[in-house]
Amino acid sequence: MRAERHVEAFGVKDGQLVVGGMPLERLAASVGSTPFFAYDRRLLTARVEALRAALPTGLHLGYAVKANPMPAVVQHLAGLVDSLDVASAGEMRVALDTGTDPASISFAGPGKTEGELRQAAAAGVVVEVESRGEAERLLAAGETVGVRPVAAIRVNPDFAVQGSGMRMGGGPQQFGVDAEQVPDLMAALAGRDIDLAGFHVFAGSQNLDADILAEAQQRTVDLVLRLAELAPAPVRYVNLGGGFGIPYFEKDQPLDIARLGDNLGRLLDERLRPALPQARTIVELGRYVVGECGVYVTRVVDTKVSRGQRFAVVDGGMHHQLAASGNLGQVIRRNYPLVVGNRLGALDVATEDVEPVTVVGSLCTPLDLMGSKLPLPEIEVDDLVVIFQAGAYGLTASPTAFLGHPHPAEVLV
Ligand SMILES: *Cc1c(COP(=O)(O)O)cnc(C)c1O
Repeated sequence: MRAERHVEAFGVKDGQLVVGGMPLERLAASVGSTPFFAYDRRLLTARVEALRAALPTGLHLGYAVKANPMPAVVQHLAGLVDSLDVASAGEMRVALDTGTDPASISFAGPGKTEGELRQAAAAGVVVEVESRGEAERLLAAGETVGVRPVAAIRVNPDFAVQGSGMRMGGGPQQFGVDAEQVPDLMAALAGRDIDLAGFHVFAGSQNLDADILAEAQQRTVDLVLRLAELAPAPVRYVNLGGGFGIPYFEKDQPLDIARLGDNLGRLLDERLRPALPQARTIVELGRYVVGECGVYVTRVVDTKVSRGQRFAVVDGGMHHQLAASGNLGQVIRRNYPLVVGNRLGALDVATEDVEPVTVVGSLCTPLDLMGSKLPLPEIEVDDLVVIFQAGAYGLTASPTAFLGHPHPAEVLV
C-alpha cells in the first residue's frame, strides 16, 4: 500500500500513527476537536536538512510561504532556510513577524496593489515586479514613503517547462515581464530611484522529472546571464525559482534531488559565480519543504452500506482539504494516500477479500470525496482517518466557508 512510505516517515506506536511524537488518539485529545491539520516539526527540520545535503553550499534556500502560511510553521522554517518568498501583504506580515531580515524576503505575484507596494517598499523587502506598470507603481510607492525600493524583475522566460503540474512561465502569461521586453524595462529604470537588484524566474510548479527541471535550470541561467549583461548595475540577486514536486499518487516517483543538486552545483561554479560574483543565488520551494510533513485528521461520524458499497462519512472534507477531493486542478481524480490512523495494525490483514470503502466528507455534495474504493478492512464510527501530503496547499487552498462548518484547528507538533 502506497501510504506505507508515509506511515514509516511519521512512525507507529501501538497500532497508531505518531505525529510530532504523539500517538494519534492522544494528539486528537490534546487538540480538542476534529478535524485538524497537524504539521510535524521534526519532519520539517529533517526535510530542510536533506535538501541542504543535496544542494550545493552557497546556494540559498527560500521558502515560498503560500504553500503553508501558518505562522508557527513559517517561524520554524525561518530559522532553517535563508529567505522567505511571499505573495501578499498578509504573507509579508507573517514573514516579517519571524524576525527575518527584510532584505531576505521577496514579494512576488501579479496584481500587487498600490497599498501593498507601499508596505513592501517601506518594509524594505525585495519586490519582484511582474510588469512595467508595476515597476512604475513601485517607484511611486517608494517616493510616497521616502525610500528607494529594492526590486527584481520577474522574467517570463522564452521557454516553457514540460511536465509541471502548473505552468507559470513561457508563452503569454500574467506572470512576469516577457524576456524580450526586459532590456527596455531596464533601460527605462536606469538612473531612477529604484534599486534593481536582479532577476526572478519561476517557470512552473509540481514537477517530478529531474531531467526536465535540470534543463529548465540551465536555460534559466542562460537567460539570466544574457539579461545581466544589459543590467544597469552589477546583479546581486538571482532567484532561479523551484518547481520541485512531491509524489501525491500511486505511480508518482519521488524527485531525484541529488541529480538537481549536482546540476545546480555545476551551474553555480561554472556559470553564475564567474559571471556574477556579487550575486546571491536562490531556489524557492514551497510544497517540497512542507507538503510531506503534514496530515489532515478527520473523525468517522457514520458508516453505511448502500447497495453493496461501503461508505465511511467523516467530520471533515473538501472544505478543508480541497486537493484530496480532486477538485484542485486534477483532471482525473486519484486518491491521496489515506489510512485509518488508529488502526494501523489492520494494515497487515489481507485485504483482497474485503469490500473496498469509500470515504466521503460531510458536505452535501458528491464532490466531497476524500478516498474512493479503498482497501480498508476495518473502519468504524470514531476512528481517525488520516490523509497524508496535507502540509502544503491544504487549509488555505480550500473553500472553508462552503457549507458553513466550523474552521479546523491547525497545530505544529
Ligand atoms: C507558488 C510559488 C512557489 C512555490 O511553489 P511550490 O510548488 O509550492 O514549490 C514558488 N515561487 C513562486 C513565485 C510561487 O508563486
